Amino acid sequence: MEVPDVITCIDCGQSAHRLTPPPEEGWEVGDFVAYRCSGCMDRWDMVVADPADEGSDTESGFDFRQWMAERNRDQK
Ligand SMILES: [Zn+2]
Repeated sequence: MEVPDVITCIDCGQSAHRLTPPPEEGWEVGDFVAYRCSGCMDRWDMVVADPADEGSDTESGFDFRQWMAERNRDQK
């Protein structure tokens, strides 16, 4: 399971760099990975998703739908 070092911030389009170091045993499905945007300084908590899961159609292996759901819930 690989996760990117840098993602693109959905809010401002700047680069968001990974804060969470890789676990010794490697990334596993369901792990939370935190990113810090260099543009708006927002923190993004991503969830590592199983690429074999039909519900995940992103090449990066993240479940963006769950990510957005978590984000929306946090802001309410
Ligand atoms: Zn941003």
